[in-house]
Amino acid sequence: MLFNAALRACPTWLENQLVSVYFKARSITTNGFRGIHSNTVTIQQPDMKVQILPALQDNYMYLIIDEKSKDAAIVDPVDPEAVASAVKENNVNLTKILTTHHHWDHAGGNEKMVKKFENLKVYGGDDRVGALNHKVQHNDTFNIGSLNVRCFATPCHTSGHICYYVTGEQDTPAVFTGDTLFAGGCGRFFEGTADQMHKALIEILGKLPDETKVYCGHEYTGNNLKFALHVEPNNEAILQKMEWVRSQREKNMPTVPSTIGNEKLTNPFMRVHEQSVMNHAKESDPIKTMAYLRREKDNFKA
Ligand SMILES: [Zn+2]
Repeated sequence: MLFNAALRACPTWLENQLVSVYFKARSITTNGFRGIHSNTVTIQQPDMKVQILPALQDNYMYLIIDEKSKDAAIVDPVDPEAVASAVKENNVNLTKILTTHHHWDHAGGNEKMVKKFENLKVYGGDDRVGALNHKVQHNDTFNIGSLNVRCFATPCHTSGHICYYVTGEQDTPAVFTGDTLFAGGCGRFFEGTADQMHKALIEILGKLPDETKVYCGHEYTGNNLKFALHVEPNNEAILQKMEWVRSQREKNMPTVPSTIGNEKLTNPFMRVHEQSVMNHAKESDPIKTMAYLRREKDNFKA
C-alpha cells in the first residue's frame, strides 16, 4: 500500500520502470532467479490451440492459435521476450494482443510488443491500456483466423476490464478472464462494486456453457481454495479440487484451465446464490453475500 502511495506521486515513465522492477523483484523472491512459477503447457483442440505461458511471480499469458490459418493472438503479454520465443517455436503469425485490463502485470508489455511485431492490433476496454488501438465494448466481436472472439465488459476489478470468449467450430469454448474470475476466486474490487462482480460472474460468465475452459490471469488457485473451504467446510468438490491442485503444483504444473462448471461447484464467488454460502455470510441476498465474501477474503490469511 505504501508502494502504491509512492507511485501516485511519480510521473508515468518512472512509474513504469518502478513497477517493472517491483514485479521482477517479487518474482525472483518467490521463484528464484530462473523465475518460472509453472511449466509451459499446451491445450490442443481441433481448431484452437492455447499455450499457457507463465510470467512474473504468478501471472499467465496465453498464446491463442487458430490451427487453420496459423494466425495467433496473445493475452496480456507482460513478458514480450517469452512471447516472441513462443511465437517463433509455434511458427505462427501473431496479429493481435487481447488486453484484459490496464494493470502493469497484464498490459505492461504492450508498448514493447508493438515495437517487436509489426501491425499488431491491440484490443482492450480502457484508455489506460498501453498501445491500445482497438478499443472494445461489451459484445463486440472479431476473429483470430477462423476463431471467433466475443468481448464481455466486466467492470469491477478495474472499470475497463474485458473478458474474451473464444470459440472455434469444433472446439470446447474458452474464456480468458484476466483478474475478474480466478479458479476458486475473483479479483479485488478496486474500481467497482459487489453488484458489478455479481453481474460479471453470475449473469455473464455463469451463463456460458459449463464445459467452457476458464483461463485466468494468475496462479492463485491453491490459496483461493483454502478460503473456499473456510466458506463451505463440507463442500466435497472443493476438497477434491484441493487434492488435484496440490498434485499439479508439486509437479510445477498450472491449475488452469478450469471450467465454468467446476467454478460453479467450487468457487464461493460463483456460489453466492447457494444457501450454504449465504448462511456463512449471514445474508439472504446474493449481492450482499458477494460483498461480504470479498471483504472477508481481503483479510483472510491462507
Ligand atoms: Zn489486476
